[in-house]
Parts: sequence; C-alpha cells; structure tokens
Amino acid sequence: SAKHVQNNIQMTEVTMSTSKHDAFWMPFTANRQFKAEPRLMVSAEGMYYQTEDGRNVLDGTAGLWCVNAGHGRKRISEAVAKQIQQLDFAPTFQMGHPLPFELAERLVKHTPDGLNRVFFTNSGSESADTSLKIAIAYHKAKGNHGKTRLIGREKGYHGTNFGGISVGGLGNNRKSFGSLLTGVDHLKHAWKPGSEFTKGLPEDGAEMADELLDMIALHGAETIAAVIVEPIVGSGGVFMPPQGYLKRLRQITEQHDILLIFDEVITGFGRVGEAFASNRMGVTPDIMNTAKGLTNGAIPMGAVFLQDFIYDAFMQGPEEIIELFHGYTYSGHPVAAAAGLATLDIYEEENLFQKALQLESYWQESLHKLREHGVVKDIRNYGLVGAIELHSSEKFGERGYKIFNHCYWKQNALVRCTGDTIAMSPPLILEESHIDELMNALSKSLSNAL
Ligand code: PMP
Repeated sequence: SAKHVQNNIQMTEVTMSTSKHDAFWMPFTANRQFKAEPRLMVSAEGMYYQTEDGRNVLDGTAGLWCVNAGHGRKRISEAVAKQIQQLDFAPTFQMGHPLPFELAERLVKHTPDGLNRVFFTNSGSESADTSLKIAIAYHKAKGNHGKTRLIGREKGYHGTNFGGISVGGLGNNRKSFGSLLTGVDHLKHAWKPGSEFTKGLPEDGAEMADELLDMIALHGAETIAAVIVEPIVGSGGVFMPPQGYLKRLRQITEQHDILLIFDEVITGFGRVGEAFASNRMGVTPDIMNTAKGLTNGAIPMGAVFLQDFIYDAFMQGPEEIIELFHGYTYSGHPVAAAAGLATLDIYEEENLFQKALQLESYWQESLHKLREHGVVKDIRNYGLVGAIELHSSEKFGERGYKIFNHCYWKQNALVRCTGDTIAMSPPLILEESHIDELMNALSKSLSNAL
C-alpha cells in the first residue's frame, strides 16, 4: 500500500548511514543531539583531554569515575603492551595463569578486614550481578534455601544488567525492561530534606536504616539474602549517607544473617581518601563490588571482594563438584590483570589513596563558594567527590545538560550531569590550581549558560 511504501521511505531515511557517526549506537546518550554536534576526545595526558577540534579540556570526572591516577600513565600502557605479547589470553576455568593470583593478593592488602577473597569480572555491572548471585548461592550452600530475597534502595545504581537494575532504584533504567527479578524490595533513599549544603556527611538520618527492620518483620529474615547499597549514591544524583546510617545497616544485617553488599564501583580506589569508602566510614560489608579505578580505566576489569566465611562455605561442599557455576571468559584476563598491577603500583608509590583526604578541605571550600549562584539548590561533597544540584527548569535535566555542554565547549572543562546535578570526581593527581580552574569554569557556566 501507499502507506507501507511511505513508511519504508521514512525508515530508510532514519536508518541509512549518512555520516561516520551513524553506526555506533551510543550508550546512555542523546544520540541524535550528540551526532549533530559530536564531543570527541582524541588523546589525554595527566589532567587533560585533547579534543578533536584541538582544545585541552580539564578532566573533572576522571573519565567516568575511573581514571584515578590521571591519563596517559606509561607504566600501565607498557605493562599492557608487554603482557599482551607474552601471554595474550589464557582461560581461568579449570586452569590459570599467575597474574590474577598476584593481583588478588596485592588487592586484599588494601581492603577492610576479612575481605580476602576476590572474584574477577569485567565491569561494575558484572560485579553487581556476581555479588547478588554469590549472596543467594552462599545461603543455599549453608542449607538456607529460603534466603533468596534481595533488598536495594531508591536511587541506587548497580549497573545495567538484569540483577543490577532489579535492585537498582532508578526508574528510567528499569521501566522499559519488563518484570525484572522477583523478590526484590527497595529501602527509601537515605537523604533528608534540610541537609542541603552539608559539608561531608549529613548529621541527620541514621534512623532511616531501621526501615530494614520493617522489611524483616514483613517477609521474615529467613527469606532475605542480601542488602545492596552504594556507600555514596553516584548516578542517582550524588548523595552522601547520613552519619551512622551505614553502621546501622551493618548492625541489622549482622543480627539477621543477611549479607551486606557495598557497591564501591565509584567510591573505590582512593576516591574518598582511603582505599575504599568502607575503610574511611569504618563499616565492613560482607561483599564489596568494584571496577573502574581498579585498572585506572585503561582495560575493562571489575572485582568482587568477599569475606573469608563466604568463600569457606563453598569450599566445604563435596570436593568433586565445581563450587560455583558462575564466571566470565575474561575473568582475571591477563592483560587486564597486568593493567591492574601497574595501576596498584602507581597508587601505592604515589600515595594516591591519601590524596583525596589531603585536598578535601580545599575542594570543599572551593565547591561551596558556588552557592552564591541563585540557581544552585544544594552542594554536596566528600573526599574528592562533589555535586552541585540546580533548581530544575520545567524540563528536568535541561539545566544540568546545558551546564555540562557549556563547560565542555566554552569553558574547556569536563563535568558530568545526572539530571540537574553536576557531578565531579577529578583524577586524584590534581593540584589546587586545577581545582581553581574547574570551579572557575563552572562559575562562568552557571553565570552564562542558563
Ligand atoms: N555500580 C556503580 C555504583 C556505578 O556507578 C556503576 C557505573 N557508573 C556501575 C555499578 C556499573 O559499572 P559498569 O558501567 O562498569 O558496568
């Protein structure tokens, strides 16, 4: 029919490749907007990206919360080149190679007490799903077959695989994708109105953790496997936990034989002034998920850290059976592990895990000066994490995007926007002068872009 022909013509127009940017469907991107005005990085060194149009752009986001040791680290690229020539790939199913063993031993020296076992993945999303599966399988290994429910939190982000979006609490990441996992509940988002412009962790709100007791009363602890939270909510808008809130979650989970999982994909590897947020906040989870900073972003890799007692529960089963039917072709990949080892060398030698603590007060004071802009609704910070939340216009997210875009094109600074919140997480190698440069760029954007 004519209508059919018409539809086909329209289809062809939309899908036909007309430029070199058409074929790649970009993740979490306004593709049509981007392709009209592509923001392309072609190289990077230290604190700066170089763009396709020849500008130096200050990296205020460590890539995507991952390039903690700064860009272009020769030690990492050389280790990667050497490894790929020596041993490009070897399976880690029923055989192995030395690197992930070495990396695991080195990593657990930095984790909180007892988190001595490492399961390697390739991303934060895989770490999330791995942690949820191990939590349920752990209870089964102990004979507690009914403990299968999972508890996440509103605004939580645990990557984009089905497990992660099921426990995650961001509507946009869930609502197009069907019924998801069953047996999942969500705690309330743990940030209270009135906490605006708090420096560091808000004082008020620890009691919000007690909502977990209501869930236990409703379902029975014998049905609940694990609670998963980000110590600092990242993609959900950058919110710090109220003082004492995580400790309270820890007490309740421990009392009820529920595993506590911390998603430290963004807070890990020095972001908040110690190796992990768990270290600094003084709360040790049973399982800790990481990725990103593990390899300084150079090669994809994630790691799930587990308490000894979890690993031991699996090792007590019948010996002839594989203990855990889970893993990835690239778990403990030699080239990624080489990148991880070189990254850890840098973190240790340059004391980068302490750097965020040293710069925290300068970072905090510089950030909070932006409060003078009328459009600013809240400012939040901890370690080298910063967030500026703007009063929204009629269209949620519009102002955040405008600031991000203006910073990129006009102020030569890279910041991130999640909704109308501007998030910052610079490489840990930055100096006070970079903080000045970043805040100056933001201040000009807040004055000129809206
Ligand atoms: N968990 C958290 C807390 C994250 O911030 C992210 C990514 N930003 C992920 C998981 C997912 O990591 P990936 O994109 O590597 O799958």
